[in-house]
Amino acid sequence: MTEPSVRRAQDRAISRFFRLYLQPFHPYTTDLFERARLPANAVSSVEDLAKLPFLSKKDLLASPSAPDRFKKFILTPTPEALRRAWPFWRMIGVLAAKRKFRESFYPMLLTATTGRAAEPVSFIYARRDLDILSDAGRRLLDVFGLKYPDRVLSVFPYAPHLAFWQCCLAGFASDVFMVQSGGGKVMGTEGNLRMLDKLKPTTIVGVPSFVYHLLREALAAKLSLAQVRKVVLGAEKVPPGMKRKMISLLRESGAQDPLIFSTYAFTEAKKAWGECPTADPEVSSGYHLTPDLDLLQIADPVTGKILPPETPGEIVYTPLAGAGTLVYRYRTGDIAEGGITYRPCPHCGRDVPRLMGPISRVSNIKDLKLTKIKGTLVNLNNLAEILDDSEDLEEWQIEIRKKDNDPHEIDEVILYIAVRIGRPENEIAEKINRELRAACEITPNDTRILPLKEMVDRIRVETALKEVRILDLRPKT
Ligand SMILES: [Zn+2]
Repeated sequence: MTEPSVRRAQDRAISRFFRLYLQPFHPYTTDLFERARLPANAVSSVEDLAKLPFLSKKDLLASPSAPDRFKKFILTPTPEALRRAWPFWRMIGVLAAKRKFRESFYPMLLTATTGRAAEPVSFIYARRDLDILSDAGRRLLDVFGLKYPDRVLSVFPYAPHLAFWQCCLAGFASDVFMVQSGGGKVMGTEGNLRMLDKLKPTTIVGVPSFVYHLLREALAAKLSLAQVRKVVLGAEKVPPGMKRKMISLLRESGAQDPLIFSTYAFTEAKKAWGECPTADPEVSSGYHLTPDLDLLQIADPVTGKILPPETPGEIVYTPLAGAGTLVYRYRTGDIAEGGITYRPCPHCGRDVPRLMGPISRVSNIKDLKLTKIKGTLVNLNNLAEILDDSEDLEEWQIEIRKKDNDPHEIDEVILYIAVRIGRPENEIAEKINRELRAACEITPNDTRILPLKEMVDRIRVETALKEVRILDLRPKT
């Protein structure tokens, strides 16, 4: 796959998808084309997408005047619209397998977004989407190099979320033995440890914070993890320090040369992309994309201009196939610092385009609606990165509140940390404070050192879907 051949194939796919599916059956698109007086074949290449507006999370949120807004984005072919939009010869195929065709659009599954503060948005999957999700999953496991007789323990929380279902269908599609424990909420840490001990998985899959917690508990319980070769992380960003810490924990529990992979996914794409094995755990191969199923573009986050390959910018998503809920020219709010590359992967030789991180989630800041702490504009992503990256810390949490709980008072920032066993606690607290001051111009009012157990409860690693790293107790204005 060279860049020109990918582009040609994507031009054809997008033209077909808009003409045959989106324009006639996707209420948002039908309206949009009507209002803008665009012909049905207005999008006949990737470049033509520029005629259409961007979408973002706010376009999907319910409002008092449009409580069912998400329905406008669900593909709903009706017999009338079908007869109007499709040529007779194409209808012959449909009529021959009428029922199967109709059923391929029925809603079958729902996943929802997990923004930390924003309202969740539902995404519907039809049979066609489950087929795509399975296919994407099969490719994912192929990129990770997982196959029979690998045994996989997935500790993703059992929930209507993409990570769980992507993982589940990937296992089915690849004939890989996979046990879904349901995560900490379903089985508790104890149950997951027992499963780890009994199943002796070659691979562990889950949310970074919970997998890390599990590895740490396994070490404390002196479980042997000698058979674990791979760990796959999803649903959350993986800071580089996390991979290093996990490898060291796995080694201490007897694993040899473990590999840690991260994935990139978002609810709106209805699939995930993964990294392949690299010799150096610090080096990421980038996320191997699925250019026949969707188009990822990189845009200037300010002007929205689509940027050339290998240029950093905001990730913009457009599907090339599927049904159910569909959004295109969708601004993810995520920044890919390495952009998209079309060079063959130097680690595995695959020639699919790759999305190059690190990926910073601008959207988390938007979700939290945080503007100022103590009058200073603080980038919470930077703050989180420094704390995540620290080798001295096991866990951390930032609490932002009003002094004496008085809404008119000034903001206070309390940093809670659990220091790695055997390290000088006070020195580390001072060091972290210095680093935060230098990078974010913020000094916590107080730094509290907690025992690990208490810290785990505070951030709700075991019970929350996403651990609570930043706790904003200030009254909402
Ligand atoms: Zn690769």
